[in-house]
Amino acid sequence: MIDLHSHSTFSDGSESPGRVIELAKAAGLDAIALTDHDTLEGLSEARARAVELDIELLNGCEVSCDFEDRVLHVLCYFISDGSGPLQDELILLRGDRERRNHLMIERLSKLGLPITEQEVTDKAEGKGIGRPHMAAVLKDHGAVRDINDAFERFLGKGRPGYVKKSRVTIEEIIDKTSRSGGVCSIAHPYSLDLIAHELDRQVDRWAAIGLVGLESYYGRYSPELRTNLVQMARRHGLVPTGGSDYHGDYKPDLAIGTGTGDLLVPSEVLDELRERVAR
Ligand code: AMP
Ligand code: ZN
Ligand code: FE
Ligand code: FE
Repeated sequence: MIDLHSHSTFSDGSESPGRVIELAKAAGLDAIALTDHDTLEGLSEARARAVELDIELLNGCEVSCDFEDRVLHVLCYFISDGSGPLQDELILLRGDRERRNHLMIERLSKLGLPITEQEVTDKAEGKGIGRPHMAAVLKDHGAVRDINDAFERFLGKGRPGYVKKSRVTIEEIIDKTSRSGGVCSIAHPYSLDLIAHELDRQVDRWAAIGLVGLESYYGRYSPELRTNLVQMARRHGLVPTGGSDYHGDYKPDLAIGTGTGDLLVPSEVLDELRERVAR
């Protein structure tokens, strides 16, 4: 069993990279990918702990791409250490994120909500700030019931505190990831809210430009949806990847490895992914 989707304090997870590795080991996983938003910087700490605990760690990250009027999350795996085209793009994306965060906090405080730049930075422990950190600050002040409530009322797309980040296209990310030694998989494909045949058509297009995986075993999807996605992946010659999308306290219903309890990503998926990297 493996888990190819997890977040640490280097983006919007509540646990350090080292702790994520410990949890993966405790869950009995053969391998784990750390896939923080827009950054590979948690990987060195994760790597050190993975070596100590003897568990395989994949270099990974999750990037938000523009897709029509929506946001498409793309997981990147097996990125080479050091610099490269994807790494350069991630630096730009982190700059966009900082600008967006600043504007959102300004808007929220203008709306009369109790939130300051300092509090959000503290909440994120100085690393990659995201909307979940803003949500946690609002919750601490009792301005919202929980993280979800914060998104529904203020932080989600179209809500009064929301500001869009400038994003890249999936075409660019597939190209840059491949030139950085890695491969891409579409994260939680049903987030796109496409009807089945439209999703199928898009996946077909992306497969033609070098997409390698489709996240099929996803922490929050029912067994039936997972099966549908595995079949979709197979139809397009893609690897059905999978993971919990663990965020610690920010998504308290999701555990490393097992998701909401019944997730099981077969280790063979990783063998297939490795084969595709070697090609
Ligand atoms: P950001 O990268 O700052 O735009 O924030 C994205 C993060 O917010 C991801 O971890 C999402 O899973 C999380 N997120 C987005 N919408 C919601 C929601 N409605 N409830 C809880 N978390 C959300
Ligand atoms: Zn996240
Ligand atoms: Fe995501
Ligand atoms: Fe994620």
